[in-house]
Amino acid sequence: MRLLVSLGPRAYPIVLTAALPGAALGALAREVLSPRAARLLIVTDANVAPHYLAGVEAGLAAEGFATAALVLPPGETSKSMGTIEAILDAAFAHKLARVDAMVALGGGVIGDLTGFAASIYQRGIAVLQVPTTLLAQVDSSVGGKTGVNHARGKNLIGTFWQPRAVLASLATLRTLPAREVRCGLAEAVKHGFLADPGLITAMEADAEAILALEPAALTPIVAACCRIKAAVVAGDEREDPDAVDGGRAILNFGHTFGHAYERLLGYGAWTHGEAVAVGMVVAARLSERVGGASPGLEAEVTRVLARFGLPHDPWAAGVPGADALEPLIEAARGDKKGDQDGVRFVLLERLGVPRVERLTWAEIALALAPWSAARGLATRDGAP
Ligand code: ADP
Ligand code: ZN
Repeated sequence: MRLLVSLGPRAYPIVLTAALPGAALGALAREVLSPRAARLLIVTDANVAPHYLAGVEAGLAAEGFATAALVLPPGETSKSMGTIEAILDAAFAHKLARVDAMVALGGGVIGDLTGFAASIYQRGIAVLQVPTTLLAQVDSSVGGKTGVNHARGKNLIGTFWQPRAVLASLATLRTLPAREVRCGLAEAVKHGFLADPGLITAMEADAEAILALEPAALTPIVAACCRIKAAVVAGDEREDPDAVDGGRAILNFGHTFGHAYERLLGYGAWTHGEAVAVGMVVAARLSERVGGASPGLEAEVTRVLARFGLPHDPWAAGVPGADALEPLIEAARGDKKGDQDGVRFVLLERLGVPRVERLTWAEIALALAPWSAARGLATRDGAP
């Protein structure tokens, strides 16, 4: 299956396949790269390489490309400027020219790093994204965001650099830990909440098969997510901070508090998807309290997340904010989309209809406080 991200001269295909990424990647590279492209640097990580690197190398070699591979340590700690230098060094060592390309084979971390390195190597060369996590397939590999972390926070340094093509091989998900699969499903349902209630219905109807990663069930879901993401990105390629309709910022649904949970719990305690899941429940609650959404939205969001085994209770014991809201608000305040007074917050008017609205932290705290207090009381009442 093939979709298109409509970005004028930077338009590119997203190819979904149930096969492993070998032959299909070779053919796609030949199709989308310069006719003079000869050398490719494959960037991957130590979890992905043992499973998929050889196949990718063979597929590219069969099309006449000379490849070199750089295998990085897995995980978020690799997302640093030091790693970017290592990728650039490898690119020079492999003599990549401006007609050549980098190939990102891995999850979001590898995609962000490789995209960033490609965007600055000799002022920018082509990159092919080969996402191997569900999260990267339904979200991060499409749209051209690249970057690394800074001591001040995640993804604070980077570029917009659209790939020349995305190849999502659903077969690579078979080796993905179950928790990482659910993490991707959180971003998938996010797309449904934002833009397509029908996607939610379809996912719930097929939940077992989707959780089992059956290609027949999963392919249409990944495709729907890519279509939604592609449409949002096509309308606002570089996330214009002044976009009137919210533009790309709507993709941030659940992320203001999601990022706050990640910051408070320490990166890695929850997956990004888990943090966003709980963040979406908070956002749904705010949508009801200050956004005018009908009662029931929060319950609906909660129910869907539960169906896919995702955390969905912001007030469960141990969740930051459950006992005292202040530290959670403080952590959210650090979000790069906000400032000291407030934040452009993504609310839902109803399922499928997002609205970006500036809310002050005071308003947010006020809207959430009665909820947490009521919950605390109920627990105390129920205690023996
Ligand atoms: P993201 O969830 O943003 O895509 P990562 O790139 O950190 O994030 O990937 C999550 C984890 O899954 C990493 O430890 C990575 O090495 C591992 N991983 C990625 N793809 C696969 C795969 N297909 N099979 C097994 N492990 C994988
Ligand atoms: Zn996200």
